[in-house]
Amino acid sequence: MTKNFVIVGGGQAAAQAIQTLQQNKYEGSITLVGEEIYPPYQRPPLSKKYMAGELQRERLFLRPLKFYESNNIDLELGTRAIELDLGNSHVRLNNDRLLKFNGLMLATGSKVRRLKVPGSDLDGIHYVRTLADVDEILPKLKKAKKLVIIGAGYIGLEVAAVSISSGLDVIVLEATERVMSRTVSTEVSNFYSRCHSKAGVNLKYSTTVSHFEGNKKVTTVETADGQKLACDLVVVGIGIEPEVELAETAGLPCKDGIIVDEFACTEGQNIFAAGDCTNHPNQLLSKRIRLESVQNAIDQAKAGIQTFLGEKTPYKTVPWFWSDQYDLKLQIAGLSEGYDQIVVRGDPKKAPFAVFYIRDGRIVTVEAVNLPQAFMIGKQLISTGIKVELKKLVDLKFDLKDLIKR
Ligand code: NAP
Repeated sequence: MTKNFVIVGGGQAAAQAIQTLQQNKYEGSITLVGEEIYPPYQRPPLSKKYMAGELQRERLFLRPLKFYESNNIDLELGTRAIELDLGNSHVRLNNDRLLKFNGLMLATGSKVRRLKVPGSDLDGIHYVRTLADVDEILPKLKKAKKLVIIGAGYIGLEVAAVSISSGLDVIVLEATERVMSRTVSTEVSNFYSRCHSKAGVNLKYSTTVSHFEGNKKVTTVETADGQKLACDLVVVGIGIEPEVELAETAGLPCKDGIIVDEFACTEGQNIFAAGDCTNHPNQLLSKRIRLESVQNAIDQAKAGIQTFLGEKTPYKTVPWFWSDQYDLKLQIAGLSEGYDQIVVRGDPKKAPFAVFYIRDGRIVTVEAVNLPQAFMIGKQLISTGIKVELKKLVDLKFDLKDLIKR
């Protein structure tokens, strides 16, 4: 019988799948199929330190190329898996290779949502998802004077922070009424808006693009409310969509991601899925969700491989996220839904501070700005689910560590 574990996708979940197979002394061969030309690398620094020129390229890679050679891991890079045959347990690649497998991990991640307005294909309009995307933007950022960013999510704001600090004029257009509206509380949004405005970023809310103008290269962004914004570079960060095509065409159930259980198992035998591309039953929220987070990719990949190797391990960690903008570290644990109250530790007008979301006297989410202790303790309390006295959370004289000592 074939003993080849195939991983489709070359991101953080893929890297973790390899690591867990090796840690558990998997004896078969391993093949990684990645559409990008690079072996797995860290994506988070792309819009932060790597874009700012503060992190060298080699430091992005999770393992050097020679690791794959010396461990006999077959890398099929720059290659797309185009067909998954569930009955015959094989994957066909766009170079016509056919890979038989005894275990498969779908770690296909996500693709950027694209703007489809007139002029969207002009030169100078960029997305930030891959290392190649950022390598293309970097020389243009050095020459550009006026940057328009579409979307005030993590990508838009992190790129804004890096660009304004390098002296560009920066305008950010956001469809909703506040920054990071999908992921953080109004308190945190307001704080970050003020920081960006103070740094010189021009934030425009409830604003979308109607079209781009330019002769080959973008020169103007016209908004839906008729503003004409001159620019020589545009960065778009308007969210992502799970990459489910391979799974869906194979007949695996997909709904806002590939459907998996708490063990990262799909409906296919010995077929697992991990990361942004999956939709899993979340124990904290008691419903199915799709998470866009590095931690989810890592923990789901671990759970899937351990299950494959016969040690059923459920994925049930508290989701967490972070964002670096200027000298501010935002750390979030939990998901901001299903709460009945919000309490704030510190002054939300100036860092450090933390926002706790409470349900029935228990913390369900914490958002901490330059307050790592509140993040760590909040995350632990979310996981244990014990009740806390709210007056202690907001009392700056009270040491939060005492909440977890008992
Ligand atoms: P995002 O966090 O979903 O934010 C995109 C924002 O753009 C949303 O507020 C969205 O509003 C808005 N938007 C959508 N269409 C628009 C339009 N036509 N004009 C103006 N605004 C529009 O997505 P992202 O910033 O692109 O990030 C992509 C992915 O990378 C996410 O998975 C994110 O978690 C990940 N990432 C994470 C980090 C981090 O953790 N620090 C850093 C970078 C990237 P609606 O919600 O109404 O659509």
